Amino acid sequence: MRLRTYLVLMSAAILIPVIAFHAAALNMLEDAERESTFKQLDEKVHTISLLVERELSGADTTLRILASSRYLRSENFQALYEQAKLANNSTNKWFVLLDMEGQQLINTRFAYGTPLVSPPQAKERIQKLMTYGKSAVSEVVYGPGTDKLVTTLATPVTLENGKRYVLLAVFSANYFIDLIETADISNDWVAGLLDGQGKFIARTLDTDSTIGKPTMPRMKEIIRTETKGMIPHQTLEGVASYNSFRRIANTNWTVSIAAPKQAIDAASNQAARIAGLGMGVGVIFATLLALVFGGRIVRAIKLAKTAAGQLGHRTKPAFEKSNITEVNELYTALSDAGEQLSRANDSRLLAEARASEAGELLQLAVDSAELGTFYCPLPLGKIYWNATCKRHFFLDDESEIDISVFYDRIHPDDREPTRIAVEAAVFHHSEYDAEYRTISPDGRTRWIRAKGRAYYDLEDRPIRFDGITIDISRNKEVEARLERDSRQKDEFLAMLAHELRNPLAPIASAASLLRLSTPDTAKVTKTSDIITRQVKHMAGLLDDLLDVSRVTKGIIKLNKDVVDIKKVIAASVEQTQPLMQSKNHAFLAELDSESLYVIGDEKRLIQIVVNLLVNAGKYTNNNGHIKLTLEADADNLLINVKDDGIGIPPHLKDRIFDLFAQGERTPDRQLGGLGLGLPLVKSLVEHHNGSVHVFSEGSGLGSVFTIRLPRHYLPDQSTNDAQDIVIDRSTETFLKITVVDDNSDAAQMLAMLLEELGHEVQVDTNPFNALARSTDSRSDVFILDIGMPGMDGYQLARRLRSQKETSNAYLIAMSGYGQNTDVESSMAAGFNHHLIKPVDIQTLSMLLEKLSLKNKDF
Ligand code: ADP
Repeated sequence: MRLRTYLVLMSAAILIPVIAFHAAALNMLEDAERESTFKQLDEKVHTISLLVERELSGADTTLRILASSRYLRSENFQALYEQAKLANNSTNKWFVLLDMEGQQLINTRFAYGTPLVSPPQAKERIQKLMTYGKSAVSEVVYGPGTDKLVTTLATPVTLENGKRYVLLAVFSANYFIDLIETADISNDWVAGLLDGQGKFIARTLDTDSTIGKPTMPRMKEIIRTETKGMIPHQTLEGVASYNSFRRIANTNWTVSIAAPKQAIDAASNQAARIAGLGMGVGVIFATLLALVFGGRIVRAIKLAKTAAGQLGHRTKPAFEKSNITEVNELYTALSDAGEQLSRANDSRLLAEARASEAGELLQLAVDSAELGTFYCPLPLGKIYWNATCKRHFFLDDESEIDISVFYDRIHPDDREPTRIAVEAAVFHHSEYDAEYRTISPDGRTRWIRAKGRAYYDLEDRPIRFDGITIDISRNKEVEARLERDSRQKDEFLAMLAHELRNPLAPIASAASLLRLSTPDTAKVTKTSDIITRQVKHMAGLLDDLLDVSRVTKGIIKLNKDVVDIKKVIAASVEQTQPLMQSKNHAFLAELDSESLYVIGDEKRLIQIVVNLLVNAGKYTNNNGHIKLTLEADADNLLINVKDDGIGIPPHLKDRIFDLFAQGERTPDRQLGGLGLGLPLVKSLVEHHNGSVHVFSEGSGLGSVFTIRLPRHYLPDQSTNDAQDIVIDRSTETFLKITVVDDNSDAAQMLAMLLEELGHEVQVDTNPFNALARSTDSRSDVFILDIGMPGMDGYQLARRLRSQKETSNAYLIAMSGYGQNTDVESSMAAGFNHHLIKPVDIQTLSMLLEKLSLKNKDF
């Protein structure tokens, strides 16, 4: 509905009751007005009736006075006449004396002595009066001696002498009309005095023609029974009137005044009309004002609507001043709201941008971390998983999820613990952090870690359960591998201890034997052989350990050169021949005559092949078959070592090149290694840009190890045969060597060995003495221990390098440590070579031979 309609309705709502009450009030006013007229009417009737009553009473008093007059008693009628005339104050009233026969004796209307006639029916009326015995008024009658209609008040008089008379006061109609006029009634009213028969004694309108005439029958009827009242009535003239009447006391006369109905109603209608007019004007004004103000309000509201619309479009509303204060206030409020909205909008946009950025980042994080997410509204029904989570459970992206799907896809062994974890999280507020395997219908498994928590409403009822899933299969693998590696390491350490203790036992026995007995030369030689062999074995183990450590850490230094691979194979075969023979293996090395080359460290290449051959020998039962073949293609050389030994179980095959990895150790196994051989092979081969592979069909089915090395071509095949250094001990190649070691035994032993090799050796256990003597000794080579008190090997080497006499000497470091950093420290201090204790005499002798060949020219 439109506002204007509302306003009109509102006006109507106000005006209709006002009009209704007003109408009621007008009605009451009209009634009151009428009542007031009726009251006036009634008062006038009362007044007139009192006047008539007073007049009648006055006339009655006069009659009584005359009745007791002495003139009557003395029947002096003339004197009585005079007396009566004197008592009369009006021409419309006169006194009459009648005898019992009805004969007029005196009549003050006429001069005394004028002959008077007897009034009609005088005798009967006198008889009646006498019977009645007191004063009585008459009906309208023709007056005695006149043709005029009059009324009388008659009093019976009985004299002392028994004579009886009747005294009359006669009233003409005018007498009462004069009386009525003194009451000053309204002009349009008609007043009348009625006798007991309802005939007019007097009437203010049409007096002459209406006197003696009966009033309207209804009136006549009412005044017979009612002494006063008010009735609607019609006058003799036919005018509709309200008629008030009242009986005059002690008479059967009635005073009546008729007021025209129209006049009374007109008066009261007038008030109603004025009030109604005012009301009408009010209604018109109200409606007009409603329309005008409604129009203004509508216009203001339309402007406010436009402003609100602008607000909706986030523009500050344009201000248009209205003449309605509230609307102006509304504009101001809208304008403020516009500004706030604009600010809020800016911050919302910023927050939205940030939220979207954060959301994207979160999504990126979820995607890149490959996080599964789950959302379960509670109580349980449908469950929502993202695609990653579905993948974690081997489900495709479109799958619908519920709790049964969840548990179905959990490995049966993990279902119960997971259920307990979920229930604890949902019902006991605990953090949900579970690990379980999911399982695909075809039996594949994944390890999943799930983290989450439940959320509760104000009454502590769980409403949802959300969280994430992570595929931890790889971690689990790594964990398992770490566990396995750790176990292998422990086994390795135990084994290492065992392996090192093995050679110590014969050494300890040999030492005891040498101390206790007086050994003969043969015994000493045998004991020495044992010690030498065991020490060599120990040194071999330690070398392997150090090698592995250096090689796997990438700190090994390869002396690379062009190497004929056949030489490598020949050397390897030679070295492993004793093992093959001891186990009675049929060992065959198939080689073509063509020379094939690689770039590499010959010693290390031999170490690689020896390792494979030793393993083949070791892990093949006696009388086995071992075959080494060499193949070549344009780019690569392939060395295959094949045996028909114990073979490799599948579980070991993948990690056979891992550190410490070993097959099952059986008590009957000969000198088992430390599980270092193959990792060493792998690392060394890779340092030569090659690769190693194993093939075995399983336990007991033999193995094939293949080494691939990049092939090298010689530019000139004539120079392909590398010339071995020839150690010619017959030539004068001895060197002057100074050994400095605070361990006197070790120094002496080394000196003895070097002297055996034909060198001239000087020993110093004190580095300061050694330095002091160095300038004179003119040694070619200084072999210095590193760990010495007072001055360590590094310091001594520096001092030697700084002295002119020894600056060109060849300096060899002896250290228990062979790490890269140790070698680097030695080189930095000025050493030429770094040897690890116990010094391998073979290596040292070869080094010294090379030095002597160069004839001290270094
Ligand atoms: P080690 O021989 O000291 O145990 P390796 O690293 O040389 O250590 O070898 C690792 C493991 O590989 C061995 O313990 C053995 O179980 C297995 N293995 C190596 N070579 C062979 C082979 N030719 N035949 C069967 N098993 C072998």
